[in-house]
Amino acid sequence: MSNFTIVVHGGAGTILKEDMTPSLELAYSEVLQEALDKSYILLEKGGTAVDAVKAALIVLEDNVLFNAGRGSVFTKKGVQEMDAAIMDGSNLAAGAVCGVRNVRNPIELATEVMLHSNHVFLSGKGANDFAIKQGVKLEPDEYFFSQFRYDQWKAIRDSDNYSLDHTNHQLEELMRDKKFGTIGAVALDGMGNIAAATSTGGMTNKKYGRIGDSPLIGAGTYANNKTCAISCTGHGEMFIRSVASYDVSCLMEYKGCSLEEAMNIVVHDKLMAIQGEGGMIGVDAKGNAAMVFNSAGMYRGVKTSKGVNMVSIYK
Ligand code: ASP
Repeated sequence: MSNFTIVVHGGAGTILKEDMTPSLELAYSEVLQEALDKSYILLEKGGTAVDAVKAALIVLEDNVLFNAGRGSVFTKKGVQEMDAAIMDGSNLAAGAVCGVRNVRNPIELATEVMLHSNHVFLSGKGANDFAIKQGVKLEPDEYFFSQFRYDQWKAIRDSDNYSLDHTNHQLEELMRDKKFGTIGAVALDGMGNIAAATSTGGMTNKKYGRIGDSPLIGAGTYANNKTCAISCTGHGEMFIRSVASYDVSCLMEYKGCSLEEAMNIVVHDKLMAIQGEGGMIGVDAKGNAAMVFNSAGMYRGVKTSKGVNMVSIYK
């Protein structure tokens, strides 16, 4: 039997059991499991790692619980601007989009960029034009409206604050039980190839076209069969400054670290040194998987052909 693995995350941050209701906890667990199952079935049928990570992200982008696709947070101007990236570790092909609006599944658009353009990274209006050309599904503004995201934004829109979706120190009281996040997936397929994908609405009240780490190859997303596939979540500015996902790959390639050792160094030493809160998921070409975070929690799950099947939220 071939060896394959899918790992997903739904964001990291101040996610505490005491802030969660049993029904919300169940809703998160069910959708994370659904994303794992969808990808697993694809991998079982011989699908590629790229197909698997994309399928997982579409499940999560379509669910309002997460800060990506449908559930994306509001910008300073009161709209949703989304970022996404995908990378194929077998050939280092990559596709990314940032600041796109009304695209139902930004990860689908990123995949189109990877497979059907001569480019890696498209932004804003140009990326939206490309979406139309490729026939990627668009949705009206109402599709992306959710009352809790709106309330989250309303609470800080008149300030210069911007906030990580699931962590808001100033507004902790107000934000109780409203912690949702960026999404990501990494996979190893039966052919021995790995891939990574990440999708996000970014940070609430972001302005000036702020882009985080998620769509940046080497920062929030990276895949290379020689080393690892990584998808990050957390305070994007610090992940960009740390070139976090590529650093994991470098530690493996040049220093001989295992996947988990490399992820621990980046998440617990390097990111912590600059107050970079968050986490990451990873897989290597042997099927080792790891989920590492320095925050209180990270929505996450893993399913492997060796019988591992687990979803969890807290430390
Ligand atoms: N890393 C994302 C960003 O900074 C946010 C998140 O992970 O929730 O845009």
